[in-house]
Amino acid sequence: MTNQATMNGLGDPKVHFVFVPFMAQGHMLPMIDLAQMLAKRGVLATVITTPLNASRIKNTIDRAGEAGLPIRFVPLRFPCAEAGLPEGCENVDVVPSGELAQNFFEATSLLGQPLEAYLREQQPYPSCIVSDFCNPWTREVASRLGVPLFTFYAMCCFYLLSASNILRHGIHDAIADETEPFVVPGLAHTIEVTKAQAPSLFPGTEWEKMREGISAADRAADGIVVNSFSELEQWYVERYQEVMGKKVWALGPLSLCNKDAADTAARGKEASIDKDRCLRWLDSMKPRSVVYVSFGTLTHVSPSQIIEVGAGLEASNHPFIWVIKEVESSPEVEIWLSGGFEGRTSARGLIIKGWAPQVMILSHPAVGGFLTHCGWNSSMEAISAGVPMITWPFFGDQFLNERLIVDALRTGIMAGVKNPWIWGTVSNEASVKRDGVEKAVRSLMDVGEERQRRRERATELGEKARKAVEEGGSSYANMTLLIEYVRDKLQQSRNPLGSSDH
Ligand code: UDP
Repeated sequence: MTNQATMNGLGDPKVHFVFVPFMAQGHMLPMIDLAQMLAKRGVLATVITTPLNASRIKNTIDRAGEAGLPIRFVPLRFPCAEAGLPEGCENVDVVPSGELAQNFFEATSLLGQPLEAYLREQQPYPSCIVSDFCNPWTREVASRLGVPLFTFYAMCCFYLLSASNILRHGIHDAIADETEPFVVPGLAHTIEVTKAQAPSLFPGTEWEKMREGISAADRAADGIVVNSFSELEQWYVERYQEVMGKKVWALGPLSLCNKDAADTAARGKEASIDKDRCLRWLDSMKPRSVVYVSFGTLTHVSPSQIIEVGAGLEASNHPFIWVIKEVESSPEVEIWLSGGFEGRTSARGLIIKGWAPQVMILSHPAVGGFLTHCGWNSSMEAISAGVPMITWPFFGDQFLNERLIVDALRTGIMAGVKNPWIWGTVSNEASVKRDGVEKAVRSLMDVGEERQRRRERATELGEKARKAVEEGGSSYANMTLLIEYVRDKLQQSRNPLGSSDH
């Protein structure tokens, strides 16, 4: 146990949190951050993973080991063959097509038995399970083990409440036209979206069982854990808590558990750029001059759209770091990049092909803007770093996240995307053309009064975010309460008048 943990007075090694992430980067990474935060507070943390995912996060595992954190990473065999998936298909980002999505969830649910068998043998016995909402089958594991369950949503309460209100008010049945705007009922802000932009989680009849499972797990859970913080959306946390009828623990921003460049650079997959080279490049740029461009881990940006983004960045004349994922690389893109673009922009542009050390980049003082797909983790990472955003949502919760950033927080401007992207497809259309990209980058980065005010709001929010996870902050206090809650439950279960003696 670390000194810090002992100092916090919560260093009871018998309190044992088990984390069951869903194997997608945007779900796994914040949960690993959460496990590390709790381990730093002196509780034992077990993180369930799989061989492929464990090899991807090797740097994080090694660093946690070197720091002496009480944290275990446990790879369970991922049953690809049993679920009809190709071997090694252990993360959503390598599922070859949308048609295999159900198979991936099926494989994930088959982890239930080996997980339970493993946990039964553990000393100390698990005190609780924190499970991603995409793993509703953990409800039965927790129940059979006799331990509390917490559902983890790497989402904000603004989105969760919006989705819940849309469902309760029957909006999806009442509106036939996918493109007709409507005001989301029961929010503190006037938020307008279309039906297509606000799909229910797991839409369509084929996911009915999944939706029922998630609701059942939420009902059975002792509480809900979110990657958010009170100062960001207190009203939404409280309303969502009322709707769910149970405690909602806002413990974020979780990425802030990574304190320095060595931690932030090691987060997630092995970076495709040398950390020091990236830092040297950023150091050579003026403060807040660089726009960072990344569309997350699950989107597949088409070659024609990539070319429009590049042309817009070039025309904007601002320095940039631009991430192009491996899956997006193609002869068409390579020929376009090397046929003049890279040469013309080499003095002010850095392209990262593959995995970027995103949290490290966003935390650097040279970064002044983020062109983002509005995945919630990316949004929180920008908020934490005080970086204003250009919002370019693709699917899922991203359009509502855009509304939060643009309308409620007012720390972002829209790229102007109207229609959602369908996961697993690659459209040849460019939803924003080069002029649109240039205009958005200029609006965000060019000197002006509006930019100044947006920056001030972003800076202020970033300060609040960082304070939230420090000792005395709201998320820090919530984490203390969560640990105490689990410890009390553990003590009750040991009480001779209680039913359990583990
Ligand atoms: N990420 C990263 N490097 C990359 C791409 C993504 O570190 O090149 C991280 C990013 O910091 C975030 C997560 O992967 O924590 C992506 O989650 P998000 O919710 O933003 O988007 P998703 O990929 O799930 O759509």
